[in-house]
Amino acid sequence: MKAICVYCGSSQGNQPLHQQKAVELGEALAVRGLTLIYGGSRYGLMGKAAEGALSKGGRAIGVLPEALKDREVAHPGLTELHIVKDMHERKAKMAALADAFIAMPGGFGTLDEVMEMITWNQLNFQAKPIGFLNLDGFYDLLFEFLGHSAEQGFINPGLLNALMLESDPARLVERVLKAPWPKLAPWPIIS
Ligand code: AMP
Repeated sequence: MKAICVYCGSSQGNQPLHQQKAVELGEALAVRGLTLIYGGSRYGLMGKAAEGALSKGGRAIGVLPEALKDREVAHPGLTELHIVKDMHERKAKMAALADAFIAMPGGFGTLDEVMEMITWNQLNFQAKPIGFLNLDGFYDLLFEFLGHSAEQGFINPGLLNALMLESDPARLVERVLKAPWPKLAPWPIIS
């Protein structure tokens, strides 16, 4: 495994813990020789993760859509910056560059990106490990809802179990490195 894509807030949120752990996640990737693939911004938790990676001599590759580039939000120290046409191209590029995905706390953009990768795994378009950095239970309510959806027959319970939840950045990185995405029964069950 060479590169891990991190999805996280373009805002930095109001919890110092989230900001500190974003830096630690970037560092945890760098010290293991893993490249950070992310949205490319210098701001928010995204910028913190990049700072962490670069501060430890790691590689950070950003993928920015043209429209956001004009707002000059790209992190100036990036190892590589890919400018793409739109969000669809961005998500495809980030996915293609990454061997695994980690979602940190974030908003709609973060949820959109990580849910899309889960769906691609579900459809066997790819089979890449996916983890959530569940800081202070940030993702507990989402996983409660996803469990509810599984109970109602809309989500493959095996797929839900394959998602990794961890509160420590280094431990989560170790887990996504070691646990390949499992072979799952086809979904949906047609009856
Ligand atoms: P959000 O969670 O809504 O803050 O969105 C963050 C996610 O969406 C990141 O993983 C980015 O890939 C993308 N994104 C949203 N807004 C921006 C922005 N201003 N600059 C760069 N990426 C962004």
